[in-house]
Amino acid sequence: NLWTASVLTLFPEAFPGPLGLSLAGRGLARGLWALEVLDIRDFARDKHRSVDDTPLGGGPGMVMRPDVVDAAIEAIAERPGPLVYLTPRGRLLDQALVREFAAGPGLRLLCGRYEGVDQRVLDAREVLEVSVGDFVLSGGEMAALVLLDAVVRLLPGVMGNAESAAEESFEEGLLEHPLFTRPAEWQGRKAPEVLLSGHHEKVRRWRRAQAEDVTRQRRPDIWRRYLASRESGEKDEG
Ligand code: SAM
Repeated sequence: NLWTASVLTLFPEAFPGPLGLSLAGRGLARGLWALEVLDIRDFARDKHRSVDDTPLGGGPGMVMRPDVVDAAIEAIAERPGPLVYLTPRGRLLDQALVREFAAGPGLRLLCGRYEGVDQRVLDAREVLEVSVGDFVLSGGEMAALVLLDAVVRLLPGVMGNAESAAEESFEEGLLEHPLFTRPAEWQGRKAPEVLLSGHHEKVRRWRRAQAEDVTRQRRPDIWRRYLASRESGEKDEG
């Protein structure tokens, strides 16, 4: 029951890519999670090994064939976790969904290319569509790498310091406070005095206030959600 990512792609050489580095890479090497990559082209049946065709109804670009994609999905049918298709039309990835994926048994990821995948295979296979942002990439590979990087670092043992995950952006519904390290003064710029005080409660309160400020200024959408959840939390308490 090792947390396993099974990836379907036309560019298997894109993996593990940066997931082979640093904490994710060490976790992979130490067997804290597993990665399996299948080349969708291996499931093409005709002699040209074609995986795409022109769009019905006309228009530019190519569409990935349902029969080929379906055969690739069938090959990982027994692998753990939801089947995710990376697409700009999908549910926007956020830290809540990342946490949900990390708590599950694994993920099966379908990376699109060209204009995307024939709709019928998405309907037939009960695919969960996920987007990594409101922009268009040339393929699903980088989106899959982004998603996996965010998930894998939450798996038990992958991140050295478990506390750092709990204090990051979004974990408390806020963006992170600004960070400082030594030297205490650099090019005439002083780090905030309170961080040198050794007074943990004051530091905690300062960081919280900074996190609230930056969230209010930069992300009114997140700020409104934070206020709403704080209010309902207060109601729950009494
Ligand atoms: N024709 C599609 C559209 O207008 O929505 C865009 C296709 S894009 C050029 C090719 C592939 O890249 C998609 O099938 C998808 O797998 C992937 N992709 C592109 N942008 C993405 C995003 N923001 N999130 C997740 N996957 C994305």
